[in-house]
Amino acid sequence: MGPHVHHKLTRAWAMEEGFSEREAELIARADIGFDRRYPARASFVNITRHFAPTAWLWSARYLALAMDWGDLMMLGYALHCAQDGVAHGRIGTRHIVQAMGLRPDPDVWETSPAGVMRRTEAITRDRLRRFRAQPA
Ligand SMILES: [Zn+2]
Repeated sequence: MGPHVHHKLTRAWAMEEGFSEREAELIARADIGFDRRYPARASFVNITRHFAPTAWLWSARYLALAMDWGDLMMLGYALHCAQDGVAHGRIGTRHIVQAMGLRPDPDVWETSPAGVMRRTEAITRDRLRRFRAQPA
């Protein structure tokens, strides 16, 4: 997924879920910065962060840390892994199919299937709500 989801939409969804503008920006910056911090091409462990099913494990781990520490950067990481898990499918099959010219680029939001858009928004809002719902 590109900056449209990892930054712009994530920021907007966070504000709709009750985070302040500043908090939403911190979450969105961590989300968009994740690909630079853990580039998928750098290592196998990094690849597991950006593709299902392992991206879901990373997302759960980062969300647990975010909630333990009240850490918005970890929350952004949790969102990134979950958003990639939806968009990329299982271990990059969508990317392979796209490379064969059979489907649009899975990292371009505008050409994503409606179901991917819906699920991406749903899993993002779910994690934002779970973070906010934790007892102080
Ligand atoms: Zn990614």
